[in-house]
Amino acid sequence: MGLDLKEGERVKVKILVLNCGSSSVKYQLFDMAEEKSLAKGLVERIGLPGSRLTHRPVGKEKIVKEVPVPDHGAAIKLSLEALTHPQHGVIKEYSEIRGIGHRVVHGGSFSASVLIDSQTKDLIAELEALAPLHNGPALRGITACEVILPHTPQVACFDTAFHQTMPDYVYTYALPYELTQKYQIRRYGFHGTSHKYVAQRAAELVGRPWGDLKIITCHLGNGSSITAIKNGKSYDTSMGFTPLPGLVMGTRCGDIDPAIVTFLMEKEGWTTKEVEEVLNRRSGVLGVSGLSSDFRDIEEAMEVQNERARLAWDMFVYSVRKYIGAYIVALGGLDVLVFTAGLGENSPRVRLDICQGLDFLGIQIDQDKNNVRGEEREITAPGAQVRTFVIPTNEELMIAKDTQAVLQEKGLM
Ligand code: ADP
Repeated sequence: MGLDLKEGERVKVKILVLNCGSSSVKYQLFDMAEEKSLAKGLVERIGLPGSRLTHRPVGKEKIVKEVPVPDHGAAIKLSLEALTHPQHGVIKEYSEIRGIGHRVVHGGSFSASVLIDSQTKDLIAELEALAPLHNGPALRGITACEVILPHTPQVACFDTAFHQTMPDYVYTYALPYELTQKYQIRRYGFHGTSHKYVAQRAAELVGRPWGDLKIITCHLGNGSSITAIKNGKSYDTSMGFTPLPGLVMGTRCGDIDPAIVTFLMEKEGWTTKEVEEVLNRRSGVLGVSGLSSDFRDIEEAMEVQNERARLAWDMFVYSVRKYIGAYIVALGGLDVLVFTAGLGENSPRVRLDICQGLDFLGIQIDQDKNNVRGEEREITAPGAQVRTFVIPTNEELMIAKDTQAVLQEKGLM
């Protein structure tokens, strides 16, 4: 099968985006002519009892299929069968897919998306040492695609890549220098695809090149991070060597005194695995409230005066405000503030609480305009200097666009 485009075929280019997790595969197929999604779906509980596929073709009814899925290869096969199904499918043949974009969490020193060949695969595999839970599933997905779609080029898009522009004094930790070099310990940052997508979109909405703007993007979901973007480049971001530091999150602790880790290990007799589990899965809003990691539950509990829910909420909001303050200094001002991801897009209350009393910095939002969930909208109050937006993130589209760009650059499309 050749990869050259025949006349007029460009309009039909379709790209498959895959996000492989430890026990799930999310997929989405894009028509790149209109940059629109044709179908998306999820295979969950891979290798576990009760595995199933949920397939949502645009404009058709969704289907749910309970079927054993032993591994990532089987999950990708199942997704492709759904995409080409005579009734529920959106394409006729696998060969209509001209490229596959994979979300890879850790890209080490990769500063952009790359074509997957044996060399890049080796590099991604080496990075497993830094992100064992994250890169392994992506690699399994890549290998499975090589078998199922051997002629379709694949591209890796990294969560860390956008943040590779941070200056050395921002990404270096104040540890013995030799150790940071030996183990590649530095701030990498995550959610890069999302921060880049919403920042570019905000620049479009403002009608100025993003290279001219000072932007702060708040990705507030279950995992949350905040990024300072100067002249189209990530300058600083709240996550670090791992996605653990920065903001208070659903179940992650965010910034804490590192001495607490060794203190607790000693007092509780925890192993490294146990302490990691506590910091990643039992802390944050869940740990403080003792109720839930879901901010909807926290908002509800605050309505009935639950004190620990109030404390968790206030801690979260304060952590975001503190970073906004720090990043305004880092950027030397601010033109645009963006809220995105599950909480940032859907909670008027969180946006209101975060922006409360920041008019002295030029940030002021309009209460009526702010009454919006999951929709793109400018929420700036009349006369406020900083333009504030709610922008639904679309990491999958960003990956599809990057995949197309890499394949075009390599002459594969
Ligand atoms: P992640 O991708 O990090 O798992 P998401 O970006 O999907 O997370 O965000 C999920 C979180 O968004 C939920 O845990 C919930 O707290 C919050 N969320 C989603 N919808 C709402 C809503 N309507 N109101 C308040 N919070 C919401």
